[in-house]
Amino acid sequence: MAVRRMVYDDLYELCRDERKLMDWLEAFGLIGDFSGKCVKCESGSMGKRKDSSRSEGYVWRCSNKKCNQKIVARRDSWFFRSHLSVSEIMKLTFYWVYQVRENFVKVQLRLGSDHTLVDWFNYCRDVCLFVMEEENEMIGGPGIEVEIDESKFGKRKFHRGRRVDGVWVFGGIEKESNRMFLEVVEKRDADTLLSVLRKWVRPGSVIHSDCWKAYSRLNEMGYEHVTVNHSKEFVNAENGACTNKIESTWRAVKASLPRYGTAKGLYDSYFVEYIVRKKYLRCSDDPFLTFLTFIRRVFDPQKPHEYFKIIETENKENDDEFNSSGDLFL
Ligand SMILES: [Zn+2]
Repeated sequence: MAVRRMVYDDLYELCRDERKLMDWLEAFGLIGDFSGKCVKCESGSMGKRKDSSRSEGYVWRCSNKKCNQKIVARRDSWFFRSHLSVSEIMKLTFYWVYQVRENFVKVQLRLGSDHTLVDWFNYCRDVCLFVMEEENEMIGGPGIEVEIDESKFGKRKFHRGRRVDGVWVFGGIEKESNRMFLEVVEKRDADTLLSVLRKWVRPGSVIHSDCWKAYSRLNEMGYEHVTVNHSKEFVNAENGACTNKIESTWRAVKASLPRYGTAKGLYDSYFVEYIVRKKYLRCSDDPFLTFLTFIRRVFDPQKPHEYFKIIETENKENDDEFNSSGDLFL
């Protein structure tokens, strides 16, 4: 049965009624359910209501008039500590999933500065990083064919003004699937590349590469190795070695990067974004809902994750300060 995908009209409809949205998010597990007996006075019970004096909207309050127990409904969630409304954050997330142009998003959400948008899109990318790190899945295995290659990113052929050095990226992809890894490498020597390879690719894999000598030790490391000499041919006529798939991946990844350059440190997060989109979102019946389940893995309000606690500690000193985007969330 085909699943009805949540489109912008559905989201808009849901976001029109704040209470409905909060209930929906609570049922989805993206916002905490703090109902039940008050833990403070142990006599009242907690109920959710709108608190218009706070930018964070809904608050759980104790029914006991003498008790002042209060819990912000957004606590420990994706929506916590932001001056944006929950519906604005939902829309930003939706726009990120569907790769809507930043200018359009800025206008639609009436965002004053670029910072808010940049920050939130970075948070979405952080969710991808987290999901991929958690899965930490190696590729390949006995008899499985894996193409490997390195490529330089960020180098401009016809640059004006500032010199752009770029970074070297090492990657591998299974021939029969879209499972892959991409990692920025400091150096392009054999030791560096082989240690990254060992981290990502299971022994017994059949490695396809060009003839570069950095890979000459692959056989000793427990891999089968076939090479193609690109100065002569695209596919090795004898052993069938070819690296077309990784090469088309380089082109696709490069096309997916922001057009006006990428900070060096952000490359890895753009790569995981690319992989998460390719591996999970593009093939999902509902990419937005799929991404919301990823967010829930990172920001589970019922059991705040270590990841979130780290952010909390980092922010302790300037707990009530605004960051550059006017958001309390970081
Ligand atoms: Zn109470």
